[in-house]
Amino acid sequence: MAHRAHWQRRRWRRNLRHGAAGVARYVGNHPVLAGLAGTLVAVAMAGLTLLTLLNGRADALDHARETSQNLVSIISSDLERNVEIYALSLQAMVDGAEHHLSADLPPDLQRAVLFDRATTAAYLGGAYVVGAKGEVIASQSGEISPTVRFTDRDYFVVHQRNPAVGLYLSHPFRSRLRDGKLSIGLTRRINDENGGFAGVALLAIRIEYFQRLLDRISVGQHGSVFIAMDDGTLIARKPYSPRDIGASIAGSPTFLRMAAQRDGSYVARSAVDGVQRMFTFVHVPGTPLIAAVAPAVDDVLSPWRHRAMIVGALTLAFGTVFVIVSWLLAFALRDKLRAQAALMRLAATDPLTGLSNRRVLDNRLDEEWRRARRTGQPLSALFIDIDHFKRFNDTYGHASGDDALSAVAECISSTVRRAVDLVARYGGEEFAVILPDTSADGAAAVAEKIRRNVQAQDILHGGDGSVAVTVSVGCATMVPAQGANALDLLAAADRQLYLAKAAGRNRVSCGRSAVGSVAADSPS
Ligand code: GH3
Ligand code: MG
Ligand code: MG
Repeated sequence: MAHRAHWQRRRWRRNLRHGAAGVARYVGNHPVLAGLAGTLVAVAMAGLTLLTLLNGRADALDHARETSQNLVSIISSDLERNVEIYALSLQAMVDGAEHHLSADLPPDLQRAVLFDRATTAAYLGGAYVVGAKGEVIASQSGEISPTVRFTDRDYFVVHQRNPAVGLYLSHPFRSRLRDGKLSIGLTRRINDENGGFAGVALLAIRIEYFQRLLDRISVGQHGSVFIAMDDGTLIARKPYSPRDIGASIAGSPTFLRMAAQRDGSYVARSAVDGVQRMFTFVHVPGTPLIAAVAPAVDDVLSPWRHRAMIVGALTLAFGTVFVIVSWLLAFALRDKLRAQAALMRLAATDPLTGLSNRRVLDNRLDEEWRRARRTGQPLSALFIDIDHFKRFNDTYGHASGDDALSAVAECISSTVRRAVDLVARYGGEEFAVILPDTSADGAAAVAEKIRRNVQAQDILHGGDGSVAVTVSVGCATMVPAQGANALDLLAAADRQLYLAKAAGRNRVSCGRSAVGSVAADSPS
């Protein structure tokens, strides 16, 4: 069992090795493929990196949004709780004022009844009961300035005109009793026994309360956080600028979205300073206030950008190097393949005639022999030798002899036209031709054609004259059979060549055999 598994593993490993070798060979034969593959891998890696970076960016924004939501909800609950507490004190003031308790009591007691302890809180700028004519009737501090009137304040007008307003948060105003400090009025209407307007109970909340609340929030270098009223009046903002407080942002497109929804988050350019921020806001329940936290997108993304820059640059650098190296390797591979092909061509050709050489002849003969044995088709070979070539050399010189050799080679090649035929220089002034699937008659015809063509060719010699060169051709055909081999065919052709020479040269001699031996050894 273990034995079989072992062999199976070996077989897998061998298949894997062959597969890998196959791929390597294929890529080796297609160098551009190697370059393209390298480029593709680099591009894919770059794409993956880009995707990861974009994910990181989205994560950074999501994280900032989450943080902003938490901050905004902290601000909102602080505001809500404080307004709730102040509203209770305010209700006590209204109750006290409406029950006439205050009118009959001495000022100290009256103050104690009207103003509870909450009205002494740190950020309260004072608690007042204002009469129907806008005059201060009672104040938590005890000071009452008889000349000051509040008839022009928005809260006074609102409560005077409408008995159903309930708790009202005024716009920021500069205090007339406390040297012009900015405050917001938290007010309720005081009715007389007939339900008529009898005045206003006022808690002045110092704007610093809101500002201090925001000071604790950190929203980055270019971030902002603010509290506004639902009509767009800015109450507090960080970074703080005295000019902004009380200003209206109602016209800005960013505010329109805040006014329309109870809470939300979006990215927009700030109306105040033009910085792109991620606004997260919520309407504070029970109040007309909106709390908004808006970190600058640049601040949020700055660590990510830093990281992305490094990763991007490295990816680009490595990718570029990878691509360059891939193509260098591809080109090197191509050059090597070309050199290899040229070498192989050189190793297979005879330099003088450009014909295939002896090595190619031997291989092809062997190959065709085996093929013919499989198919049962006849295989023919021609042996060609130039007549009296020694004499030619002696007469016209070796250089002319070389030219003549080339001319004869060219003549033989152009006569033998089938793609499967092979013409090779056997050695010296001897040539061999292999004619697969060719009968004795066919071979004899080709041989005769060669002989005639060579004879018909005028071959230039040395100076200006030309002379006819002739060849003798030995011709053999076999249907390969058991026991015989390819060399037998060549030997038979050689024997026929000898016979042709013996018979007087410039002729063709054929022998044929159907079973692997030459049947007839007679010159034609
Ligand atoms: P035969 O008709 O009997 O074939 O006579 P031959 O002179 O052609 O026969 P032989 O084989 O005696 O001589 C062959 C000559 O071919 C010898 C050499 O001078 C010449 N030869 C062989 N190879 C080359 C070659 O590469 N270049 C040149 N120029 N001559 C060659
Ligand atoms: Mg010879
Ligand atoms: Mg010869």
